[in-house]
Amino acid sequence: MSKPVDRISEARKRIKWELQEIAERKAKLDDKIVGLRVYVDHLEGLLTKAKQASSNALLKDVIRLGELRTRIKPSYIKLSKYLAEKEIEEKLGSARAELKETLEEIQDIERRKRDANICFECQGQGQKRETRYVRDDGMVHPIFLVTKCLLCGGKGKIE
Ligand SMILES: [Zn+2]
Repeated sequence: MSKPVDRISEARKRIKWELQEIAERKAKLDDKIVGLRVYVDHLEGLLTKAKQASSNALLKDVIRLGELRTRIKPSYIKLSKYLAEKEIEEKLGSARAELKETLEEIQDIERRKRDANICFECQGQGQKRETRYVRDDGMVHPIFLVTKCLLCGGKGKIE
């Protein structure tokens, strides 16, 4: 086994790398959230517009901005409206789901960040418990020992 000093500096290095990785991932997710929020707003606006569209020209605009597959049929504005709304609602549904997932991933990452420096040797307890058995007069007695964690020096955290 290597010296505690080597082990603690190794542990510190590991934590530093983990925190770096966490920060990079978090920055990417933050960017993604911004993009998704803009997209959701855009779709919500389009949906309102589609619902209010009273002419083919307005509906065409919605379809173009939403990059929808729906084709306008001049005599079927009601049908086109329905198809456009349906497609926007579907896109909105998946965009909102992705937003929710990304927010959950950010929460996970924040939890990891918070727990990154918890001592992995004692799981943050700062001490180790062990049971030893001693023989005395032909009897075996258990002795419960609590020892300070050598890696974190009893702090429960790698500092
Ligand atoms: Zn410890």
